[in-house]
Amino acid sequence: MRIFDPHIHMTSRTTDDYEAMYAAGVRAVVEPSFWLGQPRTSPASFFDYFDALLGWEPFRASQYGIAHHCTLALNPKEANDSRCTPVLDALPRYLVKDSVVAVGEIGYDSMTPAEDTALAAQLQLAADHGLPALVHTPHRDKLAGLHRTIDVIRESNLPPDRVLLDHLNETTVKAATDSGCWLGFSIYPDTKMDEDRMVAVIKDHGTGKVLVNSAADWGKSDPLKTRKVGDALLAAGFTEDDVDQVLWRNPVAFYGLSGRLRLDVPDAPEPLHEGNSILRGGE
Ligand SMILES: [Zn+2]
Repeated sequence: MRIFDPHIHMTSRTTDDYEAMYAAGVRAVVEPSFWLGQPRTSPASFFDYFDALLGWEPFRASQYGIAHHCTLALNPKEANDSRCTPVLDALPRYLVKDSVVAVGEIGYDSMTPAEDTALAAQLQLAADHGLPALVHTPHRDKLAGLHRTIDVIRESNLPPDRVLLDHLNETTVKAATDSGCWLGFSIYPDTKMDEDRMVAVIKDHGTGKVLVNSAADWGKSDPLKTRKVGDALLAAGFTEDDVDQVLWRNPVAFYGLSGRLRLDVPDAPEPLHEGNSILRGGE
């Protein structure tokens, strides 16, 4: 089973996770820029983070045989903080970088006017840079948030078939499908979507334009959820080709819209040497 996790925050994860992901079949990831868990106090904090997503993290992933790309943006939560919004002016110089495969994650957190402004501005940045957009849907007030998101996308210059709507569930999948966007589902350990519910959604809606991710980060999450969905699909009678479409070909097709996807990583990771200081965190 070859797996592309289209939404995972590897800067929050350990090298044990990289090893386990490789063993489970993960060969490619996309890491969206997001909130750090505490407020950033200046744009410079974003720039250091963006540089890590462009340089250090792809290098770290490559040590474990995994291709790493990223999406960059001002995240929805910090779109409300005037100390952070100047990041919007600096984004163009980051969006031209080779390993940036979308603008994201953008969207709504609390659905404020500041979030409206940041979402519309960043959809325009995606259109200007020939990039697709990763748009997350709010965890609270989900259906209203999705409708408002779709309205803003319709008013933008970015066609819906260049937008991935993420964190969908049973209540939002119908409206998201009707919008013409790609469909992202984040699978969590205890709350929200799990692998059995994901199988049921795919039974109802098919495999077309469906992407499954772990959204693993610094919270309780599981970077092997993509594999667990693959196994659950096979157990439910789906074919290996169905699984390959959801876990590999669909994310390749979506992020391939950027024209920047490079999946030529080594087939197997180099042996890990005790003496390799790079692998031990730069001692
Ligand atoms: Zn995320």
